[in-house]
Parts: sequence; C-alpha cells; structure tokens
Amino acid sequence: MARCFGERAILPGDPRYEAARRVWNGMIDRRPLAVLRCTGNEDVRAALDFAAEVDVPVAVRGGGHSVAGHGVVDGGIVIDLSPMATVTVDPSNSIADAGGGTQWGGFDAATQRHGLATTGGLISHTGIAGLTLGGGFGWLTRKHGLSCDNLIEAEVVCVDGRVLRASPEENAELYWALRGGGGNFGVVTRFRYRLHHLGPNVLCGTIAFAHASTRDVLRRYRDVMATAPDELAAYMTFGTLPDGERAIVLTTLYAGPAEDGAGWMERLRRCGTPLADLVASRPYTDFQKSLDGSQYAGRRAYWKSSFLSGLSDEAIDMAITCAAELPARDAILNIERYGGAASRVPPEATAFPHRDSEYLINIMSVWDDPERDGANVGWARESWAAMAPFVQSRSYSNFLGDEGQSRVREAFGVNFDRLATIKARFDPGNRLCVNQNIVPTSGAMTNIEETK
Ligand SMILES: Cc1cc2nc3c(=O)[nH]c(=O)nc-3n(C[C@H](O)[C@H](O)[C@H](O)COP(=O)(O)OP(=O)(O)OC[C@H]3O[C@@H](n4cnc5c(N)ncnc54)[C@H](O)[C@@H]3O)c2cc1C
Repeated sequence: MARCFGERAILPGDPRYEAARRVWNGMIDRRPLAVLRCTGNEDVRAALDFAAEVDVPVAVRGGGHSVAGHGVVDGGIVIDLSPMATVTVDPSNSIADAGGGTQWGGFDAATQRHGLATTGGLISHTGIAGLTLGGGFGWLTRKHGLSCDNLIEAEVVCVDGRVLRASPEENAELYWALRGGGGNFGVVTRFRYRLHHLGPNVLCGTIAFAHASTRDVLRRYRDVMATAPDELAAYMTFGTLPDGERAIVLTTLYAGPAEDGAGWMERLRRCGTPLADLVASRPYTDFQKSLDGSQYAGRRAYWKSSFLSGLSDEAIDMAITCAAELPARDAILNIERYGGAASRVPPEATAFPHRDSEYLINIMSVWDDPERDGANVGWARESWAAMAPFVQSRSYSNFLGDEGQSRVREAFGVNFDRLATIKARFDPGNRLCVNQNIVPTSGAMTNIEETK
C-alpha cells in the first residue's frame, strides 16, 4: 500500500501525521492506521482494497467538516480526497463538474467567473461532498432547492472496486440514494451540478437588532417570511457582536435583481430598530466567505439541531430563554427559514425527506478552552431539551453528532428502509460505516462511540 501511494500515504510516525489526522472539529482526536491522499479513482480503489485486505473501517474525507468527525476513524483508513479539488465549468450548458475534495470557496470562485452558482454552504471551507450527499442548505435553497437537488450526476467508486456513473439514466437507485443519504454508498469522486445565473453582485448582508427587542423582531421576521418570494433568504442568529454586545442578527440574501429585493430588505429592517445595517450590493463570492471568521478549523464544537414545522410564539419565547446566557463568545442559537423550491420536491423524490419543515433550529457552541467543554456541551444539551416540545422528530444528517440509531432514522425518515436496501446492495459489509450510518442487514462494522 505504501508503495502504491508513496508520499501520499501518511502513517503514524510521519511528521505530517498529527496534522493529517485532524478534522474541523477540534474535539475529535482519532488515530487512523493511515491517511491516504487520493488523486483519482485508481487511488480510491486501491485504498478500498487495502482496507478490505486488513479488514478495517474506512472514513471518507471531503472537506473534513462533519461535526461528528466522520472524516477520520480510529484504527481505520482515511480516504482523503483533498487533492481532488478541480472544478470545470461548462457555461453554455450551465453545469459544473467538481472533484470530491472541492470546498465551496473554490467551487463558487470557478462558477462565478461565468456569473453562475448553485446552492452551497455558508462557510467557504466546507466540503461540497459531505454537504451535498446529506442534502445541502444555503442562501439559494429557497430559489433553487437543496444542493442535492442540483446534483445531476455523480461518479462513484464502489467498495467492490467498480466505478459507476449515477444519474437519472444510469444506476438510478444509487443516484436517488446519493441525494440525501450521505456517504453510505460509495466514494463520490466527481459531482456534476446544475448551475443558475446569479451575480456577480447580489443584495445581501447582516442587520443587527438589540437583544432586548428579540421577541418582537422574531415575530415580525416570521410574518415577513410567510409571504416572502423564493429569492429571499433570511436567517436569525442569537449571538454576540464583535464589541461584546448581545444582539439578534439577521443575515440575508436576495437571489434576484437588487431593485426587486430592496423592498424586501426594507421590510426586514422594519422588524426592529437596527443597531447596525450592513446590507448592500456586493460580490456573491465575498458574501460566501463573510461568515468564515469564527469558524476556523481546530476549534471545539458541539451542536444540536432539528426542524420546526413553524415558529410559534411559545417556541420563540423558549429560544429566548435558552439564549439568555451563551456559554462562549461564538456560541449561537440560529433559526433558519426554508420552504420555497426545496419544499416543492416530494419527500420520496430524493433520499432527503424533510421537505415540508419550515424552519431549522441550530444550537451551536464553538470554543477553544478544553476546560470549558462541560459548560458548552451542557448548554447545548439543556437548550435542546428545553426546545424539545417545539421540534419535530426529524434531524438533518449533516448537523448530527454521533447521536445513535434513532436519530439516524429520524434523519432519513420515510426513506430509511429504501436506503437500507440500497446500502445492502452497494456496501453489504458496511465498510463505509464512518458516517450517519445506515447499517445493512448483513454487516455492522463500527467503532464510533455515541455521544448524545
Ligand atoms: C463550519 C460549518 C459550516 C457548515 N455550513 C453548512 C451549511 O451552510 N449548509 C449545510 O447544509 N451544512 C453545513 N454544514 C454541515 C456540513 O454540510 C456537514 O458537516 C458536511 O458533512 C460537511 O461535508 P465535508 O465534506 O466537509 O465533511 P467530511 O467530514 O469530509 O465528510 C462528511 C461525511 O460525508 C462523507 N463524505 C465526504 N466526502 C465524501 C465523498 N466524496 N464520497 C462519499 N462520502 C463522502 C464522509 O464519509 C462523512 O460521513 C456546515 C458544517 C460546518 C462545520
């Protein structure tokens, strides 16, 4: 194996090993047998063969952003796709092909050169791979659907070494499973996306309101969004401003002509009295990096997340209670409105089922000092328990920790049984078990601990 990968195999004892085993979440401390940096399908196939030969689990790493740390595994093989980050745009057909190790920053830069974009994540160093395979929410979700709704083809290296193309015409079951079922079915080395005209400048930015006005601001936000067009995306975040002041911050983007969006921005401003208003027309690629600041790799993170069918006054009041004291400067409670194009896709049309949930609520702590682990994890868990009466029995696989099989079932909902059947076809021995794992009936390889 080392002969086949040469310098691209990073083993314990190699000076690069400590950095190579790290993922975005600094809480994750796992020691793989080897990190194999793959440059193409042949490498991926060789890595899978080697894992089978020594009978160890495989972690596939796209961007390494899984909060559960699914980009690395104790005692197993990491298939690190970071060298595969080429993006090729075909502007005349509005499609882009991107390698499995591409990050959204690179993808957006390449597509925006042609005035094109697709739904992608809010942080530029998140991997396109994990995000798309689990669904994919972003500023363009209401206008153009989830990232997985824009996936029109994928190239997959299967655990048995076959390289398959998955599309509506070829391997349609696999194609269906890849759009929301996560990394359970094979290693995706190429993603082909449908693109849409956008930018280069878009009307977007943040508006901060005083923390004391949160109740009124959230109620008005809910009312504005109830009649908003698909072009308008707006999220609400309980957080702390750079000067230390607590605030409720609205982050928004209008995915259409600025002149059409101006009136909607004005309605959002009138949700309260702005402390700061940074909404302006600016390059989409800048906005896509504007939230990167506190989200750098290596920080400690613990999240709880679920869907809400609506935003009742009682749910707003409980969110205010939960966010009254935040355990860290960068801890946030965040409420995101969806609907629009993503909600017009039937729940069984792709593996991602939660189409009619209107809101996503995220309780997210990010901090640096390990001595503050208890306070941060405790706050997220207590807040989560307090919000329980208002959330649906659903979860978003991309925001899940290792929270047990019942939460995995909630993530895949009505599609779980069909996904389990497809898993049994493509990975019967569960070699790809370092993910929100759908256990095939025939195998149960796992060494990831549950951390509720
Ligand atoms: C700071 C931050 C911001 C985020 N913002 C958003 C957001 O705006 N919208 C949103 O929807 N989600 C967001 N997420 C969640 C994100 O979608 C998930 O963490 C996603 O899994 C990240 O993908 P990745 O490739 O970076 O992660 P990785 O940790 O590399 O992989 C995650 C999972 O996908 C599998 N996988 C990765 N690559 C492949 C591949 N090529 N083939 C097969 N399986 C693969 C892995 O096995 C693993 O199970 C964010 C996460 C973070 C940490």
